[in-house]
Amino acid sequence: MLAGAALLTATACGAGSAQTGAGAGGGKPAVVAAFYPLQWLSQQVGGPDAAVSVLTAPGVEPHDLELGAHQMAELGEASLIVYIKGVQPAVDDAVDQDKAFDAATAVKTLPADHHEGEAAAEEHDHEVSYDPHLWLDPARLATVATGLGGRLAAADPAHAQGYKDRAAATAASLGALDKEFTQGLATCRSRTLVTAHEAFGYLADRYRLKQVGITLDPDAEPSPARLAEVAGLAKTDKVTTVFTESLVNPKVAQVLASEVGARTAVLDPLESKPSGDYLSAMRANLTTLRTALGCGA
Ligand SMILES: [Zn+2]
Repeated sequence: MLAGAALLTATACGAGSAQTGAGAGGGKPAVVAAFYPLQWLSQQVGGPDAAVSVLTAPGVEPHDLELGAHQMAELGEASLIVYIKGVQPAVDDAVDQDKAFDAATAVKTLPADHHEGEAAAEEHDHEVSYDPHLWLDPARLATVATGLGGRLAAADPAHAQGYKDRAAATAASLGALDKEFTQGLATCRSRTLVTAHEAFGYLADRYRLKQVGITLDPDAEPSPARLAEVAGLAKTDKVTTVFTESLVNPKVAQVLASEVGARTAVLDPLESKPSGDYLSAMRANLTTLRTALGCGA
């Protein structure tokens, strides 16, 4: 009996250290998050019980991420991969479905918005039918936190209570953030959000704003027809601010802004690590939105 138990323990430890890459995780489940908001969420929910790493380095635009040998090995050794199908084609291709948590399956997704005549987006053969930028709705991210807590609890039953408790606490802080957005954006002079790329569909949907994205893809150049269309909408809606992103060349947004007599301001789509964390960057976004849209106290 005792010998058998000892052998089992030894086997389990051996498998554990192989999974976490030469003991990097100290026997904890290795959670590989695809990009920043999922890394933040995994760290909040995983706490001291999980070893969380991220595939997309800070400052790297995640949509076109290419996976090197090191990252492929990381995915191979992961206990759980946290990703959103449709954000990063390379990751979609590489994940082992048996140990993957796709956050898009945890929430009600919104349909992808297609600009008429914008052929560039259609060329991506990995395109999904929904908009994958769901982390920009704190209420949906709270639902993802709860789902992730359940997955981690199942993967590491010895620490199940910890995962569930932290998932509940994370969902609660996201719920509080959701309330701040609802109240902060309740009464505004303008509800039109002109953005560099269409990352803010969920935020717009949740808080009754109208997103007008210059491009779908952060790397794509908008067509002259699309630019003229956006300029027309911006003038009609008396837009005072065109939003840019830190990882997208602001030139197109600046040209558009000067054409319609608007300013530019940076709205962070949280596709890469901000200077603070998810919550503080979202609060900074709320402040930016309230100023730009003329929202009352
Ligand atoms: Zn994006």
